[in-house]
Amino acid sequence: CGIVGIVGNQPVAVRLVDALKRLEYRGYDSAGVATIHQGKLERRRAEGKLVNLERRLAEEPLAGTSGIAHTRWATHGAPIERNAHPHFTDGVAVVHNGIIENFAAIKNELSGEGATFHTQTDTEVVAQLIAAYVRKGMTNRAAVQAMLKRVTGAYALAILFENEPGAVYAARSGPPLAIGYGEGEMFLGSDAIALAPFTNQISYLIDGDWAVLTHDRAEIMDFDGNPVTRARQLSVAAA
Ligand code: GLU
Repeated sequence: CGIVGIVGNQPVAVRLVDALKRLEYRGYDSAGVATIHQGKLERRRAEGKLVNLERRLAEEPLAGTSGIAHTRWATHGAPIERNAHPHFTDGVAVVHNGIIENFAAIKNELSGEGATFHTQTDTEVVAQLIAAYVRKGMTNRAAVQAMLKRVTGAYALAILFENEPGAVYAARSGPPLAIGYGEGEMFLGSDAIALAPFTNQISYLIDGDWAVLTHDRAEIMDFDGNPVTRARQLSVAAA
């Protein structure tokens, strides 16, 4: 399973899938990619190997210069296209590796407030919670932070907002996440190997970090919102 994200200045869909290929060694049962094009979130997902996702993209290409992508190793919900990430709720797109332990309680609560769930995954509560907080008036940033305070379990997350195409949000509590620094582009990946074709300048998030990636910087914070610094280092992974 793996995660990649790009806040870019050139088309990202093919680059995201190429980066996912470099994470194939982690194992997966399905895959998906989402971008923002002309102010709309769009996605392609497929069961099975990445060639199936590539075939979908060849049939129906995905434009857009910001995006997130995922290979899934299903823990909750069958490995079918409907449960494949990215999950979409009200302009919020989420990919996740790990397990949200308290998803059932959150799902019950949000369902009680009228939310409609579309998948059997634990992950969907992340998108639904953020969307619910935004509906209550929070900024995207405040909503992500409030979500992080609410969910428990293990996660690497990448989040994209339809109304904020120049940003990818990331959070880590368990599975690894690396940030890559490009020229007017920023990258996110489960490891430096995924990012090697793009950049050799990386920072690793540590557990309890979240970050907002924009075209020219990564703002890294703890879950209370205090800024933290993670060393920028030269990756030794080969492109
Ligand atoms: N628990 C999530 C799911 O089953 C994420 C699995 C993963 O790490 O890929 O969809």
